Amino acid sequence: MSQKNAQKNFSIEFFPPKTPEGAEKLRVTRAKLAELHPRYFSVTFGAGGSTQKGTLDTVLDIRSEGHEAAPHLSCLGSSRESLRTILAQYKDHGIKRLVALRGDLPSGYGAMDISSGEFRYANELVEFIRAETGDWFHIEVAAYPEMHPQAKSPQDDVQRFVSKVKAGANGAITQYFYNADAYFRFVDEAQKLGAAVPVIAGIMPITNYSQLMRFSDMCGTEIPRWIRLKLASYGDDSDSIRAFGLDVVTQLCERLLAGGAPGLHFYTLNQSPATIAIWQRLKL
Ligand code: FAD
Repeated sequence: MSQKNAQKNFSIEFFPPKTPEGAEKLRVTRAKLAELHPRYFSVTFGAGGSTQKGTLDTVLDIRSEGHEAAPHLSCLGSSRESLRTILAQYKDHGIKRLVALRGDLPSGYGAMDISSGEFRYANELVEFIRAETGDWFHIEVAAYPEMHPQAKSPQDDVQRFVSKVKAGANGAITQYFYNADAYFRFVDEAQKLGAAVPVIAGIMPITNYSQLMRFSDMCGTEIPRWIRLKLASYGDDSDSIRAFGLDVVTQLCERLLAGGAPGLHFYTLNQSPATIAIWQRLKL
């Protein structure tokens, strides 16, 4: 690893497996990714606490293997009481790092449902965690270089991000994106508004065209036209898709790191090969 990158923060994300077979597969994936020595692994949290046990079990498995692990925690659809219980549980286990999110409601719920719960936005969750547990947790929040799909405007979204930092977040991880300029501009704007925390770039390896299009439609990530056209032109030639995806994403990471990004967070979807390939090309 270069001297410059040695100071940076590289982390890896999983979702909690739903079946014993999934748990076994994730153990194998994890062992391979652990050889990369990420700073920590994070584990997602299903809407309304639907994976509460799976998230904690996976975090504890990772910790028992000797690695740092950070559970995600989302607040939409959760009560203060249930979140208090989860935070106490995490604290009892000695967990020191959290990724705090609003979360999403399952489709079919509307804006009314968001406003009727005990928590509406992630800044309220960050405030709650700080009020309940002081400085115990290192808190990361989400950031959206290409704007969150429900935001009123890009400016409003940056302001909302800044309010999460002012509520007590120590850092942020972005939604994945393929436009490095959007990231640099977002970080600049947030800094000018007083949010000086590290903003780690979220990286989604490209391995499957239709899956990437589906995810990106949902979360508001733009797939640049030239990338989309190239991927589409490969049809079901998955080797070419993976090779092209590896080139594109490695170059994106190089540009981000050279431009001052303080680290990278890999969305693995519980798979190891693409993350390992990018990591090795970057010589991390
Ligand atoms: P917020 O910061 O609350 O923002 C949500 C929207 O509300 C934005 O459009 C914002 O502009 C707007 N907003 C914020 N405050 C206000 C206000 N006061 N008034 C009006 N509008 C406001 N989801 C999960 O369910 N589980 C996970 O584990 C998970 N992990 C994630 C990890 C990362 C790194 C990222 C980037 C996303 C993750 N998500 C996860 C998805 C996330 O929950 C969704 O993107 C969700 O829609 C927004 O969450 P948030 O924390 O960014 O919300």
